[in-house]
Amino acid sequence: MFKTLKHILAGVLAATLLIAIGANVYSVMAAPGMSPLDNMSQVVSANGYGYGNGAGTSVLDLPASDLNADETAALLYMREEEKLACDVYNALYTTWGQPAFQNIAASEQKHMDEIKLLLDRYGLTDPALAPGQFTDANLQALYTQLTARGSLSLADALKVGATIEEIDIRDLQTRIALTDNADIRQVFNNLMSGSYHHLQAFTNTLLTQTGETYQPQYLSADQYQIITTTGENGNGYWRGRGWGNGGNH
Ligand code: ZN
Ligand code: ZN
Repeated sequence: MFKTLKHILAGVLAATLLIAIGANVYSVMAAPGMSPLDNMSQVVSANGYGYGNGAGTSVLDLPASDLNADETAALLYMREEEKLACDVYNALYTTWGQPAFQNIAASEQKHMDEIKLLLDRYGLTDPALAPGQFTDANLQALYTQLTARGSLSLADALKVGATIEEIDIRDLQTRIALTDNADIRQVFNNLMSGSYHHLQAFTNTLLTQTGETYQPQYLSADQYQIITTTGENGNGYWRGRGWGNGGNH
């Protein structure tokens, strides 16, 4: 009788141990085997609904990883691309006094700050120069071209705003696809959801102020429609769905 009980207990113990080992093995295996989408949803849930830096959490709470050449280039370029948005909107606010430009320029300053955290973390030299000045020659040319176009009329200015947001979304998408670093992905995803709101704000203002409907220049018609018709819930839609799931990018 005792012997049988001992056997049962030993069996239970062994089974428990096996389950514990199994769970451990599973959690160890799960990390490297995660698909980019799993990775993304992890980042998204860690991120919640606000900006990553809000609510007491910081992107710096995520582990740093080695940077490859693509990731280094992405951080340097996106720092200046957010500055392009900021500088152009400030210039267009001075010209037109339309509050959307001032509000969104302030948001772009926060986007620049988020990337600066990562530049500092990885010891990269900040490429950002004085307002209207850019290290990257393409961004310098874009600044000149877009501020000139935006000075023609308020409608042109708002279309310039929407164009910059489209370029920003497209450039963030391609760079998110090139990195597996959780900290970079979190910042770029935050910036992208900001861009959805900015794109909506500019196209809505264009419609209410001038009666013109914006036509997307860089995003596919499908993608543009999804972003601009989901309203404030656009975030939830994209976050819930995840990039790469819809096959429409
Ligand atoms: Zn931005
Ligand atoms: Zn923006």
